Amino acid sequence: MTIQHVPADLPKRIQHFIDGEFVDSLDGDTFEVLDPVSNTSYLEASSGKQADIDRAVSAARRAFDEGPWPGMLPRERARILNKIADIVETRNERLAELETFDTGLPITQALGQAKRAAENFRFFADLIVAQADDTYKVPGKQVNYVNRKPKGVAGLITPWNTPFMLESWKLAPALASGCTVVLKPAEFTPLSAGLWPEIFREAGVPDGVFNIVNGLGEQAGDALVKHEDVQLISFTGESATGKLIFANAAPTLKALSMELGGKSPAVVFADADLDAAIDSTVFGVFSLNGERCTAGSRILVERGIYDEFVRRYVERANNVKVGDPHDPATEVGALVHPEHYEKVTSYIEIGKTEAKLAAGGGRPEGLEAGNYVQPTVFVDVPPTARIFQEEIFGPVVAITPFDSDEEALQLANGVKYGLAAYVWTSDLERAHTFGQRVDAGMVWLNSHNVRDLRTPFGGVKASGLGHEGGYRSLDFYSDQQAMHISLAPVHTPKFGA
Ligand code: NAD
Repeated sequence: MTIQHVPADLPKRIQHFIDGEFVDSLDGDTFEVLDPVSNTSYLEASSGKQADIDRAVSAARRAFDEGPWPGMLPRERARILNKIADIVETRNERLAELETFDTGLPITQALGQAKRAAENFRFFADLIVAQADDTYKVPGKQVNYVNRKPKGVAGLITPWNTPFMLESWKLAPALASGCTVVLKPAEFTPLSAGLWPEIFREAGVPDGVFNIVNGLGEQAGDALVKHEDVQLISFTGESATGKLIFANAAPTLKALSMELGGKSPAVVFADADLDAAIDSTVFGVFSLNGERCTAGSRILVERGIYDEFVRRYVERANNVKVGDPHDPATEVGALVHPEHYEKVTSYIEIGKTEAKLAAGGGRPEGLEAGNYVQPTVFVDVPPTARIFQEEIFGPVVAITPFDSDEEALQLANGVKYGLAAYVWTSDLERAHTFGQRVDAGMVWLNSHNVRDLRTPFGGVKASGLGHEGGYRSLDFYSDQQAMHISLAPVHTPKFGA
């Protein structure tokens, strides 16, 4: 059965948006975009190259050097950001529908992401107004202060999982800080980014401040990273791509923020609230189709409760509703693209040779077309297994037992990644001691992915460089110039007098 819900008024073409206008690639090239439920091509998107990036960066540079945006008062930019949030809110159902169609994410979860996109704009609008300038009194009638200046043209490169939300997480602080931007959306999912121009125009963002170039990573993305007039790159994507971008940005010494892959552990101690731990660990790896950077894709369980945990976990995984992403009852939809489906299913085959398959492991019955995968659970997974070490980025989980806190820590830290960690125990001292020693940029103790947007978001080791969130984002998109002023003549030592 092929389920296909096609949104009304679906565009047939997605163009670049440069200097306030929709334009084709200069060489006329396009690429095809597939819908994940039937894998048919429903859209052509302009395929940007170096020349299109040059054009977009010049527009952004001109808007930065000659336009009003960087010099506006924070509260004036905040007013526009709040309008953007209002517009996103009024369109969030349409947005979710398009996002679901393009990504295969379940509609209820896509709606949650659309709401979060509006919240991101409101949050950074408030923050830029609340940001206090640093001023210091220095002995000898001197004053020092910090002059915050937007860095310039920001290159934003985003992945295909929750594309609209992740774009907003970069666009909002970049624009709040006064930067002008060139966004390069992921080539699997360019549809929802096509809504930004209209939203920004309606909210009053001047032409040239916001530009989009669609295209392939190795073409449009690469040209953006290497461009001399781009001051920074904020990148979210795979660790391997992050390394390449790091090297390619070096000759032009760009500021870099990198949010990369993960293989996050969820550690369940025997004294945990088991019901809560099971709810959270099932949701943690199967929500967003498992295409979630912070997914708790390795579950480490203390031996005393291992059998019971596995039994209950497998029962729940077998009950997860896989199906039409547009159906509000669906919990796991279709994976984004056949290429990604191949990657996830080949890991499942590898897993079958490395550990014991306890649930899933194939295509759900009745869903012959599209990129559907059963929620898949491997148990007794050894730490040397590839399914324990490598990011799969799908609805696949590895469960491993442990006998002591020290062993749990070694297992948790024994991978190259360090994005998130989840710790389940009723002993608060144990939770904190373990949590502080685990290699992770973000730790949730008896909690799941609930956070205040002021806290840092980012990873350690192969999961990233730098942190976004709150003032850290504003710091990244601005230069902090130290100004030293004397209120009276300064008496300096008279060398050579
Ligand atoms: P990807 O690295 O393949 O692509 C991400 C973006 O980079 C795309 O826009 C792509 O076109 C572009 N790109 C690819 N090659 C490039 C190059 N040579 N130069 C410049 N740009 C290039 O990642 P993906 O498959 O789209 O996304 C999934 C990955 O993103 C997973 O690893 C996931 O963990 C990670 N992710 C991390 C976070 C986080 O906050 N840490 C959040 C979401 C996703």
